Amino acid sequence: MKETLIVFNIQRYSLHDGDGIRTVFFLKGCPLRCSWCCNPESQNPRPELMFRKGKCIGKEECGQCGQLCPEKAILFKQHEAQVDFHLCRQCFACAKHCPSRALKVVGESREIEDLLDIAEQDASFYSSGGGGITLSGGEPLSQPGAVLFLKKARERYLNTAMETCGYVPKERLLEAAGYLNQIFFDIKSLDDDRHKAFTGVSGQKIRENLEALCQVWPDLPKTVRTPVIPGFNDRPEELEAIGQYLHGLAGVTWQKLPYHTYGAGKYEMLGRKYEMPV
Ligand code: SF4
Ligand code: SF4
Repeated sequence: MKETLIVFNIQRYSLHDGDGIRTVFFLKGCPLRCSWCCNPESQNPRPELMFRKGKCIGKEECGQCGQLCPEKAILFKQHEAQVDFHLCRQCFACAKHCPSRALKVVGESREIEDLLDIAEQDASFYSSGGGGITLSGGEPLSQPGAVLFLKKARERYLNTAMETCGYVPKERLLEAAGYLNQIFFDIKSLDDDRHKAFTGVSGQKIRENLEALCQVWPDLPKTVRTPVIPGFNDRPEELEAIGQYLHGLAGVTWQKLPYHTYGAGKYEMLGRKYEMPV
């Protein structure tokens, strides 16, 4: 059986997710539910429906989706389609026939070898500045095939990076690290109650994983990232405590990321509500 990954985006010629020019593969599935997540379409591990209402050409011009939906989840208001996500059963009959791609499926199963072929097409751009491929998400390691992807990438002599939330099986993380040239690892807060309230999980396992990673792979370059979120971790004493915690961990540099709301509009497209202030 061919090995596959569920991918929701492939970004080529990226300059922001590792050294040099990179091809970034965004995988679906994440164990966290961060209130500020800018990729909410990454969280669900399965493909899902997204509706971009501004792209709908209207009931008079089209109207197909209303007839195709077996759940009667699509209604028309002022001639424009509207999806009732409570009724939607994610059958994707509507998206298959939407001419404007107002209705589209986010996420598809792709063979690992095909993804690596795409990366190799970009290899000439990698040569300057240590570019290569980056696994992102979602949480890449929520899909066990991510480790195989990295192994095969290294067999093709591709430089590899990965962005992780750290809430993953420790053995999988340590195995993946053996095939990585660099890793980006989130530490969001040292307050486990607060971490749980804003992300859905405690931060304890994440710290244990980071410490194990530093112990087993001390020479692997690790960029620890802290998104600075208003009302969550933006107090100076909290950020200072994170800096102190990271001090002395092998191979770690620290990067604070500014808060932004770029992903807020995507929540409505998925039938969800953005919980942070905009
Ligand atoms: S199929 Fe697409 S373009 Fe046609 S009415 Fe439905 S959402 Fe609009
Ligand atoms: S994906 Fe949802 S809205 Fe679209 S046809 Fe299927 S049930 Fe209806």
